[in-house]
Amino acid sequence: MELKGVNFIGNELSADGKETFKGVDPATDKKLLPDFHEASSHEIDEAINKAELAFTEYSKKNGKEKALFLETIAEEILVLGDDLLERCNKETGLPHSRLTGERGRTVNQLKLFAELLKEGSWVEARIETAIHDRQPLPKPDIRSMYKAIGPVGIFGASNFPLAFSVAGGDTASALAAGCTVIFKAHPAHPGTCELVASAIIKAVQKTNMPDGTFSMVHGRSTDVGMAIVNHPFIKAVGFTGSYKGGKAIYDAAVKRPEPVPVYAEMGSSNPVFILPGALKERKEEIAKGLAASVTLGVGQFCTNPGLVFLEESKETKEFQKYAVENFVNADAGTMLTSGIQNAYQNGIKSIAGKQGVQLLAEGKTGNAVGEGRAYLFQTNADNFLNNENLEEEIFGPSTLTVKAKSKSELLKAAHKLHGHLTITLHATKEDLENYKDLISILERKAGRLIINGFPTGVEVCHSMVHGGPFPATTDSRTSSVGTLAINRFVRPVSYQNFPDELLPDELKNDNPLGIWRMVNGERKR
Ligand code: NAP
Repeated sequence: MELKGVNFIGNELSADGKETFKGVDPATDKKLLPDFHEASSHEIDEAINKAELAFTEYSKKNGKEKALFLETIAEEILVLGDDLLERCNKETGLPHSRLTGERGRTVNQLKLFAELLKEGSWVEARIETAIHDRQPLPKPDIRSMYKAIGPVGIFGASNFPLAFSVAGGDTASALAAGCTVIFKAHPAHPGTCELVASAIIKAVQKTNMPDGTFSMVHGRSTDVGMAIVNHPFIKAVGFTGSYKGGKAIYDAAVKRPEPVPVYAEMGSSNPVFILPGALKERKEEIAKGLAASVTLGVGQFCTNPGLVFLEESKETKEFQKYAVENFVNADAGTMLTSGIQNAYQNGIKSIAGKQGVQLLAEGKTGNAVGEGRAYLFQTNADNFLNNENLEEEIFGPSTLTVKAKSKSELLKAAHKLHGHLTITLHATKEDLENYKDLISILERKAGRLIINGFPTGVEVCHSMVHGGPFPATTDSRTSSVGTLAINRFVRPVSYQNFPDELLPDELKNDNPLGIWRMVNGERKR
């Protein structure tokens, strides 16, 4: 499949912008053909105008029509076959096995949203019927449901070139909600972006969705992304990426004349607490699992466990011995981009130079172009409590163990934590009984709490919360993975005293869609 290096302004291919760039193979640092055209401000404006026009028609599509659209996107992604995996492997250095799995996840999350739409109850229909003779005033008929918010701007991350990119969870949830989408392609995998965008456009055409339902623009300069965020027709933004990027976009969106919500899912260091009983029973197994989780995908996961808390004891020393053994044997691997590799090396230099932090182990060398090496550090809880920077994410295969002198010091460290995507506990039944106070602190600190597992690997399902308090995200009330993600791109609308024929089907008297609704306070189908 030949790449064209173009932007998708709705269904139209466009290459007006004078600035061009190439994809890069991170394993060799060699540039890849073709040239990709950065979107001009005219193209961005055109894409957003089309999205605004298309919104009126697309947002009225019923659940079955939108479901067919999402299923067709999934099919068209699979039709791209090995061309997609090969280009993606070249641009990211991620192995075929990982990319095959990630493509499966991308396709399955589109299908999961399609199922949600066909079932239909996600709109949270509420009906309160009129009481004409109520005293002192009659009660009107009021019905409400979630409606799509408007055209949405979406930014993908470099570390999930399929599942958090063009047709990833943010796009799937926005399209499912009934929003039109303008996607800012990630410059680390522009060819992958073009292939997936072409699959979406084919699905738009096959299922007769309006031109402008989906657009994708390229850009290495942050101007392209900011032009999307600042456009008056954009009504919400979905972002996955770094804290720096997410916070800049959030700040811009709240300063707009009309501020709009930004759902930025950012970095996290995903603390792991190893409680005394579990440490005693399973130290070798936990050390092995921890090293595997930290080094998985060269540590380039937002759920990578970058902090490990435990109480000082003779068991701690043995645990550390096992952890060191696993870390020194860990292979280095190609990182996604030279920028990420540089940031990782700078992060390692910075933490290694901090007072009170000791390097415990280095993995096998990572001297080949683009490689990242595993690192294990340690410090004590007192140092952690007095140092603001030790909690920051270092994006790559490293972790910092923090030893507390006592349970009360461990609780203090837990109190100090800011928001994270996940927090993990390794614990026996007895530990869980003895550390209830720790669990109630941690519930306020993360979107997902895990017992006796590791945070890498995020199940895509109805109950997943992939979010968490700031700075893990800019809005902790929702999730960017799983079907809860749809709530980010809707707003509730009430219809008062509407004649039945003018109401959306979801709110009509005879419930033609057969969905679950709350009718006069009672949940009914
Ligand atoms: P990134 O550098 O922040 O890039 C993400 C996107 O945002 C890119 O399209 C980038 O465009 C754009 N961007 C960044 N800064 C911007 C700014 N100031 N103004 C406008 N646009 C801006 O992140 P990444 O390297 O792709 O991903 C790695 C990070 O993502 C890690 O920290 C990881 O933990 C996090 N992540 C989080 C999740 C999650 O679910 N929470 C999932 C995956 C990754 P340009 O490249 O053109 O600047």
